[in-house]
Amino acid sequence: MPEYEPVIGMECHAELLTESKMFCGCANQFGGEPNTRCCPVCLGMPGSLPVTNRKAVEHVIRTALALNCTVASRARFDRKNYFYPDLPKGYQISQYDNPIGASGWLDIEVNGQKKRIHIRRVHLEEDTGKLFHTVGNESYVDLNRAGVPLMEIVTEFPPDIHSTAEARAYLMKLRAILTYLEVCDGKMEQGSLRCEPNVSLRPVGAAAYGTKTEIKNLNSFRAVQRGIEYELERQASLLNHGEKVVQETRGWNEARQATFAQRSKEVEQEYRYFPEPDLLPLDITPQWIEEIRASLPELPDARHARFVEQYGISNADAAQLTETRSLADYYEQTAGAADPRAAANWIMGDLSRILNAQSLDIANSPVSSPHLAVMINMIERGDISGKLGKTLLERMAATGENPQTLAQREGLVVLRDTVALEAALDSVLAENSAIVSDIVEKGLVNKRGFLVGQVMKATQGKADPRDVNKLLDEKLSRKN
Ligand SMILES: [Zn+2]
Repeated sequence: MPEYEPVIGMECHAELLTESKMFCGCANQFGGEPNTRCCPVCLGMPGSLPVTNRKAVEHVIRTALALNCTVASRARFDRKNYFYPDLPKGYQISQYDNPIGASGWLDIEVNGQKKRIHIRRVHLEEDTGKLFHTVGNESYVDLNRAGVPLMEIVTEFPPDIHSTAEARAYLMKLRAILTYLEVCDGKMEQGSLRCEPNVSLRPVGAAAYGTKTEIKNLNSFRAVQRGIEYELERQASLLNHGEKVVQETRGWNEARQATFAQRSKEVEQEYRYFPEPDLLPLDITPQWIEEIRASLPELPDARHARFVEQYGISNADAAQLTETRSLADYYEQTAGAADPRAAANWIMGDLSRILNAQSLDIANSPVSSPHLAVMINMIERGDISGKLGKTLLERMAATGENPQTLAQREGLVVLRDTVALEAALDSVLAENSAIVSDIVEKGLVNKRGFLVGQVMKATQGKADPRDVNKLLDEKLSRKN
């Protein structure tokens, strides 16, 4: 069996964050009562005329600049003609040979290896409506999404991506950039970021590319990863049995964790592209480009490098904490008021576990960053133990309250009452006289840990182990 090299191209669609749709004044919002946000323009009524959304064009220019693309001085809209029930006009307004952005790149890192992924184009188009099929034999269409501004980002050919891990890293980085730019919310589960990888195999060392298939309906990072893995295995098995891969579009079945044949791929000519006669070309002046460039925020790679430098956290931690802008903002607010390394540990550990369990995003965290910083400082000062901190964080997430108030009220503070501590220690010593004599008379000092553990237990973990040890030393030396 020959060894195969995976060859992966990525086509991603991002719904843009604008007030209104691409060519009309209808609201651009997710969900809602079907067919309530439509007008003659986005329904494709005869005689209606489109007007370009300036904000959407700016979002695409922003993205093109952040992806190191050349921005066209003149871009044009074209009609992509095809019939489908979710497309009321019978064509989609898109961009064909004059996209807004071209020839860019972004950098990824997989297993410590940096790699540059080249981007062929970034263009602007409009989204289609949505079809719903009932269990019976009925289909419905919701056109609220029809005409929503949609940006398409396509990787360069020949592709740079040669593994599932690289495809995942590319998508993560792209989503990070889009959310930092605030051009797209990056929600794959709501379809505002959609990814269609095309996958093929060729024998290692071969010059010619194999036949590719495109995977659709991938609505999570995990689905993208599993979809590509499945397709690579399926194609390898076909090739190993002397069969051919058919060029086609394949859907992803989440329940079966498998791809299935949807339709054979249309060839480009069938779309009969031609310049959109109802819209003027987009003249993008150098001045407009420079204004947008000047407004770009700090991007993920720059922020990652700065986190390592400024906060002294590891490369891996910085990578994780800069994955989304809201996470990076949250970290930065916490690290500004508490120990940066402790902040990183709490956010990536216990807090992220709590948020995951409730399917919450960091932007909606019930624990605010100032509260988390206060809690970290309480641990630092020894007011509470790290172990109690975990309990306290759970209670903070449940109530949204200030950690100091909460710790006082719920008795989660360290036991500083030496009389109570001494009483607890005395009863532990009395109950374990055999162990005490082992330590005092036989010098079996390794048995001390047991006594400390018993005191911690007797005080429900509220004692400071340093206090217990100190007091135990005193007691034992007196027995000598
Ligand atoms: Zn409309």
